[in-house]
This record gives sequence, structure tokens and C-alpha cells, in this order.
Amino acid sequence: MARITRRNFVNGALVAAGTAVLPKSAPSADAMKAYDPVYYPPARTGLRGSHPGSNTHAHAMAIDGETDFGPVTRLSEKFDLVVVGGGISGLAAAYYYRQKHGQDKQVLILDNHDDFGGHAKRNEHTIDGKIRIGYGGSQTLVNPKDWGKVGQDLLADLGIDLDRWDTAYDQDFYTRHDLGAVTYFNKDVFGADKVVRHPYSNHYNYVQGCMGPKISNEEAAREAPLSDRGKEQLLRVLNGGYHVIRKVHNLSTDAKLKKFLANHSYYDYLKTTLGVDDPGVMRMARHSALDWASSGTDLLGIEGADEAGAMGFPHRSVYDPDHPYIYHFPGGNAGFARAFVKKMIPGVAEGNNAEDLVMATFRYSELDKTGNDVRIRLSSTVVNARHAGDPASASEVFVTYVNDGKAYRVKASAVVMACYNRIIPYIVSDLPEKQADALRLQRKSPLQYSSVGLRNWRAMKELEIGFAMSPGNMHQSLMMDFPVSMGGYQTARDPNEPCIIQLIHCPYGEEGTPMEDQLVEARYRMLELQFKDYEDEIRAHLNGMLPKDLFDFERDVASITVNRWAHGYSMGGPGNSTRRGRRPFHRITIANSDSAPGADSWVAVRMAIRAVNEIQEF
Ligand SMILES: Cc1cc2nc3c(=O)[nH]c(=O)nc-3n(C[C@H](O)[C@H](O)[C@H](O)COP(=O)(O)OP(=O)(O)OC[C@H]3O[C@@H](n4cnc5c(N)ncnc54)[C@H](O)[C@@H]3O)c2cc1C
Repeated sequence: MARITRRNFVNGALVAAGTAVLPKSAPSADAMKAYDPVYYPPARTGLRGSHPGSNTHAHAMAIDGETDFGPVTRLSEKFDLVVVGGGISGLAAAYYYRQKHGQDKQVLILDNHDDFGGHAKRNEHTIDGKIRIGYGGSQTLVNPKDWGKVGQDLLADLGIDLDRWDTAYDQDFYTRHDLGAVTYFNKDVFGADKVVRHPYSNHYNYVQGCMGPKISNEEAAREAPLSDRGKEQLLRVLNGGYHVIRKVHNLSTDAKLKKFLANHSYYDYLKTTLGVDDPGVMRMARHSALDWASSGTDLLGIEGADEAGAMGFPHRSVYDPDHPYIYHFPGGNAGFARAFVKKMIPGVAEGNNAEDLVMATFRYSELDKTGNDVRIRLSSTVVNARHAGDPASASEVFVTYVNDGKAYRVKASAVVMACYNRIIPYIVSDLPEKQADALRLQRKSPLQYSSVGLRNWRAMKELEIGFAMSPGNMHQSLMMDFPVSMGGYQTARDPNEPCIIQLIHCPYGEEGTPMEDQLVEARYRMLELQFKDYEDEIRAHLNGMLPKDLFDFERDVASITVNRWAHGYSMGGPGNSTRRGRRPFHRITIANSDSAPGADSWVAVRMAIRAVNEIQEF
């Protein structure tokens, strides 16, 4: 079987047919120069990810057509490079620009969020005095050993030692505690609150070490809270696969099978090949691939569904021993972002390598300090970038951003747009219309990662839950946080200790409608909700799933952080729009993983390298 990666699925190619501490307000413009020493966004709980306020100005441009952000203060600052977007790609652009042009080059990174890292965000929970470090978005470095020489040089320079994870990721954690993959059926949708020790899909497979089903397909079908007819159909699905497709459709050769697969959707397979019509089974199937697919499985082809771990295919092991999914910092890929920041702004934290940074105090007051060669200015939405005069001959670019309601302008010799590519036509004046049209075709899927601090995980242990599919709930899956200890950080080892559980919600649009419509509908539906809605949902989910004698939400949940990414995984645009969209425009070049496209941190870095190399020498 070809080796596949979790993120391969989201570049578009496979989509075929109360306890919360409220965030403080963003710092004012003056404070941007020297943040309050206690300014520390990773410790904020409540609504995070693209937190409230972070997209206000971008949406004013893109949705309301706003172009006037009030009087613009023209700052005297002039940079060699301004980078728009402080995600992995933007940080990498700053890093490689200085590698290429000299470490004395002056670089400003502007980002609309109150923290750097883009999707790579750290969520800290302090539970009964103990720190637990989780992630709010980008989770794990995917196959970093395959990043080639450029990648290995980068990792070495940032102080990231891949061999360290051989021991830092406790691969025996799940077997030691007997934690496997289960399914939670809720009462609202399935008529009974019930946990069955079978995931009914292969989605959980990316969790390295997590045990699989504990019961047979026959038992799992019997135990599902479905009608007899539904149970019978579910068993047919569990025992399905390509051999069944061949037999039912009389496909005697590989060529015939290939043709069939190319012309039929996953839903054709379920409904026609397997004869499924039970609403409960169909619901389980639709929710069975989650963020491997970035959409409900109604939008997938047969092979795409199989590769995304959907229900109805034999067990597949996703990561082989040479490519384990273990390269996870406590804090997820925010650990990667931190390593970039420390490299470029050494005073931000103490430490000799990326591992040291896991527990190091990160001083945000250093990020935008006068005198730094690299400065990171947060809560700053770029609303305009235009050449000073004729783009073909201009010697500089004016970049205008809004911080704390006020507009400021800086100058740059060159600009890398490492922000979401779809917003670029609203920001870059005079962009050729065809290029702007291509950028407007870019798609991103909405996604929500919620991290929940538990005072103990005795109930999870009792039910042997390492990973739970939850087809009836908003969060369609739930898992124990990855068991990674490094840099003095110790993940929970004992069920009596506090831990983080991670819940994933992939919002879908109306079944059967086109992908573009589903993405928009799902995005708006997600953004309509308030923190209380999520809290209520998580309360009902956990109280319904876990045994009452061992778990009580009010008693056992210490904190909740809901990370909403209205613009999550890059899904590209149709045809070659991505390539047309990312062309350099005189002194302005385009990075971000959208410009590949691919929802992958190494892709984000590679796109930064390309964008830096495209900056013309003037
Ligand atoms: C929930 C989630 C989980 C993921 N998990 C993984 C994973 O496990 N492994 C993996 O490799 N990848 C993962 N990814 C994919 C991730 O997108 C990439 O790996 C990578 O982090 C993308 O980096 P980027 O810099 O290209 O984009 P982003 O991280 O999106 O950074 C772009 C930044 O630009 C900012 N910006 C946008 N407009 C403006 C503006 N006008 N002014 C200023 N700033 C602006 C954005 O707000 C953002 O902060 C995940 C993504 C999501 C959403």
C-alpha cells in the first residue's frame, strides 16, 4: 500500500466526486512596542484560534468592501522586508530572507492575531496548579525525515532533533493503559448514550500507539444502538472493501475496477454496492473521515474515502515504522514556530534548542522591540500593500496595517504575502485582474480544535478510551492528548493526574450540496456560535459518554479552549489557479501553504523559500 500522510488528503486532490478565562483585549499600538510583561496569549482560554476580533478588518474589506480605515499615521520605519502573516510560512520567509541577504537585514512580520504561529498555536491549561500544554491548531510535523537536505539543515539550525521523539513520544502509553479506539453514540441522535469498543473506521490510525477495536465487527454491529436492519447493514459495511466491489459489480480485471472507482462516489459504494439506507449507518459513514477529508464523506470518491480512513474498508495502518506520526511538540507545531522566533529574536527566551523552549518563559515584550533586526507586530491586520508609484519601477512598497483601530503605514523594499491567499486581492493594489481572479478561487475548510483540561482521566481509563469517534456530536472525535514529554515537561502518566483531551469538529454544510457551498455554510454556522454554546456541547458530550460515578463535568473540567479556524486547511483552487495566483508582482511575492496548496508545515516552509527567491534583486 502506498504510504499516505494525514495532510495529503486536504490539498484538494482527493476530494473527488464558565470555566473559561476571557481573553484580555489586544494590546494598544503603544503597547505593541513593549508588551506588558504578563502578556502571554498561549495561556488564554475561551474562544481562541482565529479569536474574536482577529478577522474584523479583513472581513470589513472582503465582505463589506471597506477600504477606508481612517487617517493613516505614516511611521518613519523602513524595512528591507515586510512579511504579511506570522504563521510558519511567514516566519520561514523572514528566516530565509536573512539567510540569503544577510543577518543584518531588517524584517517586520505583521499578523492579525494576538499570538504568532498562524495555525500553529499553543494552548496552555493550568489545572490544579499543574501546567498541561496542548495545541490549538497545527498538530505534528509530518514525515520530517523526508524533508531533504534543505529541511534537515533547517531543523538542525533551529535545534530540532528528530531522534529525540523516539523516547519523548511514549509509544507504550496506550497499551500500558489499555487505551483503544471506541465510538460514543449519543442519546439525542442514536436514542441511547452508549460507548462501543470499536471505532467503525480507520480515522483514529494517525494516533501512534493507540490500540484499535477491542471487539469483532460482528459484536460491534450487534452493540450499535441501531435497528436490526441498521445493524445488519452496518456489518455489511464493516466487512466491505474492494473485494466486495469486484464481486457485486462483476469486475474481473484491475482495469475494470480502476474504471469503476474513477466513476463512482463513496456514497455510490455505500448505497448501491452495499445497499445501505439506514440513516444511522449513513450518519456514521458521513462523519467517519473528519479532517482527513476536510469534508463530509458525501463529497468523496471511493479511494479518497478509503485513504481518509472512512468506514467500509479493511483496517489500514497509516504510518509505517519509517514514518511514525510522533513528531509532536507539547504545544504542537507552535514548538516549530517558537524555534523560528527564538532563532531570529534571541532575547525572547532562554534555551539552546527547540526542546528547551517547551518550558522556557517566552517574553512577548521582546517581539517588537526597537533595535531588533526582526520584529513581530501582533494584532496588526494589513489592509493595503502598494508600490510607491509605478510597480515596474517603484523602489519601495507602502504597507498599511490596522492595530487597535488605528491605521499605520511602514515602508519596505520588498513584501512577502504569507497570509491567506484569498485575501491578497483586497490588500494588494493594482494586482493584475487575472491573478486576482485566480487568488479568489482559493478554498480553505473550516475546522475547530477544542482542548479541554481535565482534573483527572480516571473515567477515560475505565472505558479504555484513547480515541473516541462521536458521530452524533458536534465534535466528531475526541482523544487523549499525545503522550509527549520533553524539555522538562511531563505529560500525564497516571489517571489521577490532570490531562488535556482534544476534540475535533469538522463543520459540514448540507449533505448533497456542492463543496464550495458546504464550506461557506459550515464556516458561517461555526462562527454564529458563542462560547457558551460550545461549553454546553462539551458538557453534554462528556457527561453522556463517561460513567456518572467517575465523571462530573462541573467537578472535573478545569478549562476549555475552543480554537475556531474559519480559514483552516488549504484546499487550493480549481485547475492551475494556485500557480496563476502565486506569481510574483514586482516587489511583492506570495508565500503561505495556500500557494502550493497543501495543509502541511513543510509545504508552508517551501512556499516561503520560493517566495523569497522570487524577490528580485533591484
Ligand atoms: C486545525 C489545523 C490543524 C493542522 N494540523 C497540521 C498538522 O498536524 N501538521 C501540519 O503539518 N499541518 C497542519 N495544519 C496545516 C497548517 O495550515 C500548515 O501546516 C501551516 O501551519 C500553515 O502555515 P502558513 O503560514 O502557510 O499559514 P497560516 O498558519 O494560516 O498563517 C498565515 C497567517 O497570516 C495571517 N493573516 C491573514 N491575513 C492577514 C492580514 N491581512 N494581515 C496580517 N496577517 C494576516 C493569518 O491570520 C495567519 O496568522 C493544520 C491546520 C489547521 C487549521
